[in-house]
Amino acid sequence: MSLPIGVLALQGDFREHLQVFSRLGVDAVSVRTAKELGGVSGLVIPGGESTTIGKLATIFELFSPIKAAIANGLPTFGTCAGLIMLADQITGGIEGQETFGGLDVTVSRNAFGNQLDSFEADIKFKGVDHDVHAAFIRAPVITEVRTSEIRAELPDGRVVAVSQGNILGISFHPEVTGEDGVHELFLREFVK
Ligand code: GLN
Repeated sequence: MSLPIGVLALQGDFREHLQVFSRLGVDAVSVRTAKELGGVSGLVIPGGESTTIGKLATIFELFSPIKAAIANGLPTFGTCAGLIMLADQITGGIEGQETFGGLDVTVSRNAFGNQLDSFEADIKFKGVDHDVHAAFIRAPVITEVRTSEIRAELPDGRVVAVSQGNILGISFHPEVTGEDGVHELFLREFVK
């Protein structure tokens, strides 16, 4: 891997993602411009607020470049709001909310309720050799999986992680619990 991993740093918990890569000894940089986007080997779209990330991406003239880069095969990993940004279809979005897309799924925003309904769980994750410690914070749920592959489900069967080609999307935040396994999987299987 010659180029660094980029973390979209418009809003949300991008710093925690940068810290995960630093723990793993992997070079990672913030992405706020189209030029910076052009210099990365993979992109993380962090958790935060998908409506804000979408609006800021437009203001920073990053919306179309990111959409095109993902469609052209840039390895991309979205967590929580980042998953929402990667879904082809969403429910519970605000009027006119747009996504970068790439995952052939429907994602329901705030599917677990409000902030008080945040919780943590240990879940099996296809491709990670241990139970993943996951924090769900105003998390979305993947309500319809079409051509994407399911990577993780809650014990009740709700889908919380999928992958498709160059894209990995998860509804929780491993980066806030010191859980580095999913980032390692992203590096190993998607960025290579
Ligand atoms: N509910 C937020 C959204 O719709 C996502 C929450 C999160 O990223 N922790 O964007």
